[in-house]
Amino acid sequence: MSSMWILAVVFPTNVYKQRHDRLETSSRPGDCSGFIMIVLGIESSCDETAAAVVDSGTRILSSVVASQVAVHHPYGGVVPELASRKHIEAIVTVVNQAIVESGVGQDHIDGVAVTQGPGLVGALLVGFSFAKAYAHGRGLPWVGVNHLEGHMNSVFLGDNSLPFPYVALLVSGGHTSIYHVTSHIGYEQMGQTLDDAAGEAFDKVSKMLGLGYPGGGVIDRMATQGDPEKIPFPRTYLEKSGFDFSFSGIKTAVKRYIMTHEDTYADEIPDIAAGFQEAVVEVLTYKLIRAAQTKACNHVALVGGVAANSRLRGCLTDMAAKAGMQVYIPAIELCGDNAAMVAAVGYHYLNAGARARLDDDV
Ligand code: ADP
Ligand code: MG
Repeated sequence: MSSMWILAVVFPTNVYKQRHDRLETSSRPGDCSGFIMIVLGIESSCDETAAAVVDSGTRILSSVVASQVAVHHPYGGVVPELASRKHIEAIVTVVNQAIVESGVGQDHIDGVAVTQGPGLVGALLVGFSFAKAYAHGRGLPWVGVNHLEGHMNSVFLGDNSLPFPYVALLVSGGHTSIYHVTSHIGYEQMGQTLDDAAGEAFDKVSKMLGLGYPGGGVIDRMATQGDPEKIPFPRTYLEKSGFDFSFSGIKTAVKRYIMTHEDTYADEIPDIAAGFQEAVVEVLTYKLIRAAQTKACNHVALVGGVAANSRLRGCLTDMAAKAGMQVYIPAIELCGDNAAMVAAVGYHYLNAGARARLDDDV
């Protein structure tokens, strides 16, 4: 545990008090006439052990994230076996902390949602098995959810105002896709990356520049000191009318630039970071806006770890305003992996009647 960071997002207690009082008047703790309101979410798909308690799919009562960044940092990427072991060390403490900080008490949890995939199998198994045992032991309904649907629902946390349908760009370390979203649990994929995810490109470019892992945040910060136009890296649109992406070309372009400027590139790191980031952001923004126009949607959402990128948030906000669209982006701490988004999507599945079984697997 000493090598982990625990980030707790604590919300004003008066909000929970209200909810708590209302629950105490119900016929039995956790009984809301069959309707599930308070969901415990658990996430362990990669290198964050997370638990959260969320009310009605939107109101975060607690959200605890134990990051393993310090554990994997020396290896330049996530080491799957280490990730599983660290999840096992952290899971009990993290879930307990989330329940205590929620202020509602275990008896008022109505259901459990846990990430079932995609992710590292050994890592997923820890959260999934814990959720299964916890729900079974307490006689609670539970459901396994798709991590990506969790990200898509992160946009409703704390603000339930985004109307359907909307078009979402999900951009993370493992995925880069555009979806036409018609409900909390209904969507159609419009396009996806044909090779690397955008976050993966950030991480690899950071490694090439000697800036370490994970790379997104450090490139973002470094880019603020550079000139985005000094080194014109290629923009890969594939077909300009389509919604697929490719980020392997820009990665190679940065590598080639470093190799051909071996003696000078070290002084140009902020310009390389800014030029690379600009090329990625331009393509992501262009495709999201075009996808929304194609669907005649004037609401767009940006979710996933890369949605924390300051230039992407700014550029999308400007472009959407010009196109007459409204943009929804989660708070920075809800862009990366967290369990509040898992509880949020789980709330909708549980109330739609979805239930996991004891022999379900990841
Ligand atoms: P996963 O891909 O496992 O679902 P996340 O959704 O948390 O994980 O996304 C992690 C990715 O987000 C990493 O590739 C990381 O570099 C990237 N990222 C985080 N912050 C930023 C940022 N400010 N700018 C660009 N990328 C970022
Ligand atoms: Mg993720």
